[in-house]
Amino acid sequence: MISNRVPDLSSDAYHDARDRPVGGLVSAIRPALEERGGIWFGWSGKTSRRQQPMVVKSVLHGKVNYLTTDLSESEVENYYTGFSNRTLWPLMHSFPTRVRMKDEEHKTYDRVNRKLSKALYPYLESGDIVWVQDYHLIPLGASLRQLGWKGPIGFFLHTPFPPADIFLILPWAKNMLESFLSYDLVGFHTERFRHNFEQSLLLDLDGTLEDHSFKYRSKKVKIGVYPIGIDFSSFRSWSTSSKAANQAASIKKFIGNRRLILGVDRLDYTKGIVERLRAFERLLDRFPSWKRKVSMIQISAPSRTRIPEYISQKRDIDRMVGEINGRLADADWVPISYLYRSYDQETLAGFYRVSDVCLVSPLRDGMNLVSKEYVASQSDNPGVLVLSRFCGAAEDLKEAVIVNPYDIDGTARALKRALEMPLGERRGRSFALIERVNRNSARSWRNLFLGDLTTKEYELFPETDAQVSRLRDGVMLPLNETTTARRKADNDNNGK
Ligand code: UDP
Repeated sequence: MISNRVPDLSSDAYHDARDRPVGGLVSAIRPALEERGGIWFGWSGKTSRRQQPMVVKSVLHGKVNYLTTDLSESEVENYYTGFSNRTLWPLMHSFPTRVRMKDEEHKTYDRVNRKLSKALYPYLESGDIVWVQDYHLIPLGASLRQLGWKGPIGFFLHTPFPPADIFLILPWAKNMLESFLSYDLVGFHTERFRHNFEQSLLLDLDGTLEDHSFKYRSKKVKIGVYPIGIDFSSFRSWSTSSKAANQAASIKKFIGNRRLILGVDRLDYTKGIVERLRAFERLLDRFPSWKRKVSMIQISAPSRTRIPEYISQKRDIDRMVGEINGRLADADWVPISYLYRSYDQETLAGFYRVSDVCLVSPLRDGMNLVSKEYVASQSDNPGVLVLSRFCGAAEDLKEAVIVNPYDIDGTARALKRALEMPLGERRGRSFALIERVNRNSARSWRNLFLGDLTTKEYELFPETDAQVSRLRDGVMLPLNETTTARRKADNDNNGK
């Protein structure tokens, strides 16, 4: 498994702290890798002086060998902050006016991907299946191929893929599209993202598309749809745990008899937090009988805090919360409680369970796991999910109240409807949603992707036939113990 960041094994130290790193990707992948074993490789999140070659640190934890490497300050600046988060992130989420185009950043992005692939390559062995995650690492597969890796490589994009008219504004679009062709399988959350990707391929590369396989020169890539889900049973049991119940009880004490609307996100301009606060304000202004009877809790987990767009987004939200509360609050009622911090997921389950409405209103989102976690945490007196039509989850969670987050009046009306929804209707929707979230879980996402990735025969690795057929049955394989132990010994010998 390769992703930009690898979970910090000391993350327990972050428990309940304000700066715990959060993200859907880690929640979806970590349980599987821990259960089955493997390597998880990526950036350590730390900077150090430029090293040639990259130094790889290995920590064996359970069945997983966590391999990490530092980057230099300027690599972080150009590869991570610059090209990944100020060029590709807004591009993929269809915010073209926020897209920065800097040659130097693009060059560093390519160079860091090459360096990462060189650092990883010695750890790969016959029979390994390589799975690369997300937009930071699009060229990594091509680099591994250049180094001689012939085994299977899959790539999954966790963000949306934008319409071709937007993707092709990137000066390096053709080069990036070619990078995708070194993978055997490229996966997206939704049919629409796959369609957008295929349109870009057809417009910029002179290849052919048949049955979602794209052929170009000597390369062929399969393109699939795999909606990511959550670990349903964990959220179900967390939602009734004593930790979650304590959290729910203290929220209840604070909220009193009022109704509660919840928002939970990383603080990111794609999440539509500003629009959400406006919609809540509009609810109170247009339907004043709801004043003093409803409050909102907005949890905004700190994210990419050194990037200017995120700093200014935080400033906007701080100001807006202050304005709305200043204008509408009373001595015994504060409309919005704004929590700029993160919580562990078990505590979040308490927030989910006690809320009457969860307003998930991204302007654009690849999937959005918070919406699924909310669904999984409901009791038989369930709350209502109000969900943006512009996130991947909306393609599946049809029984949510669907809104256009840009339409502030429409979202305010939807909030009113959700708050006034009778128990029978809430239950009907909740049961249907629970069924969907349970079916399309993190586990099914992983197994479907890996099943499709390994349907191809790999002539160079005849000894893996048995593994390939087991993978076809949707079973993710553990690394065998000798391999894991040898890799650990290699690292120890290198004094890392
Ligand atoms: N999350 C968390 N603590 C918080 C806020 C969020 O652990 O305080 C987790 C949340 O449970 C979810 C993930 O962060 O699993 C957010 O995933 P989502 O797909 O909604 O958005 P992303 O951050 O990946 O864009």
